[in-house]
Amino acid sequence: MSVVLRVPAADWRAHQRRVLAATPGLVPVAKGNGYGFGLVRLAGEAAALGVDTLAVGTPAEVAAVRDSFGGRIVVLQPWRPGEPGAEELLADERVIHTVSRVSDLEHLSASGRRPSVLLELLTSMKRHGMAVGELTDVRRVLADDGVDVVGWTVHLPMPAATGGNAAEAERLAKTGLAVRQAPAWFSHLTGADYDRLRATLYTGTRLRIGTELWLGGSVARRTTATVLDVHKVARGEKVGYWQHAMPADGHIVVLSGGTAHGIALEAPTSAATGRQRLISAVNGSVEALGWARSPFTIAGKKRWFVEPPHMQASMVFVPGSKGIPGIGDEIPVELRLTTATVDEVVLEE
Ligand SMILES: *Cc1c(COP(=O)(O)O)cnc(C)c1O
Repeated sequence: MSVVLRVPAADWRAHQRRVLAATPGLVPVAKGNGYGFGLVRLAGEAAALGVDTLAVGTPAEVAAVRDSFGGRIVVLQPWRPGEPGAEELLADERVIHTVSRVSDLEHLSASGRRPSVLLELLTSMKRHGMAVGELTDVRRVLADDGVDVVGWTVHLPMPAATGGNAAEAERLAKTGLAVRQAPAWFSHLTGADYDRLRATLYTGTRLRIGTELWLGGSVARRTTATVLDVHKVARGEKVGYWQHAMPADGHIVVLSGGTAHGIALEAPTSAATGRQRLISAVNGSVEALGWARSPFTIAGKKRWFVEPPHMQASMVFVPGSKGIPGIGDEIPVELRLTTATVDEVVLEE
């Protein structure tokens, strides 16, 4: 009675190994919802891949991966004093902290713990990082030797948005390396750009990859929901919390999967204007009601939500009496795995 993600294990792991082989210095990223798989599972996969370092998003996520992954753990969100758990995290010698402000670097340098840090450089992404103009200050703080510099880090926009990030990546990395020799860490470089940088920069390189590693390749992932109930309804009958009248005789199919799983009401139908609705209504279409299409496929078609998804269940309408599923049937549900929470992950042998 749940939403399930099924993955052919051998294919998934073969894809992971291909990414690893093509990416010397790979740092897998496991953050947030764990790309649909969950953080613990990804930490285990990273350990099996044999990488020495795993990246997580936030300080709180360190605890989730720590028991399943024995190597070093980078926190991508910059370290900030006063954040919950920030000071405690400094006691964990396996953790590498990202530093994006000179004042935070000063704080860490004075902590007496000599924490491991990645020095983040501000890119055209404009999320976090120290600007080139601040590097004189960085040099001054590093002279105290209060931190262990693990590398410079450069988090770039999507290559598709910029037409390629190689030039910016190289310029920034070289600027950092002029201040302190250390490995250069990148995010969102194409494989070709990364290869070029590895050949040009006289230092070690690391590339952080999440989506392509866990969700890329031609791996036949399937997500399914379970039919929890089926009810016959007549045209005009009112159903659901909001008592919407049904446009035709048919069936209400109640499915596992709701807002808690990341199932959202997608944009309502485009037939928004009165005139369009009238045309649709004349054509006997449910679009006339401004209903939204659901991500659930029954008998080969994405079905209409009767009303917005509930917390853990959804109600869809199937007109007529053909192709009505039975209670307990599993039907395909389309989920965006970076926002979804499934009840169960099944690795199929
Ligand atoms: C999330 C994140 C990544 C991984 O991004 P994907 O697009 O999932 O590969 C890499 N670097 C940083 C800094 C991130 O926050």
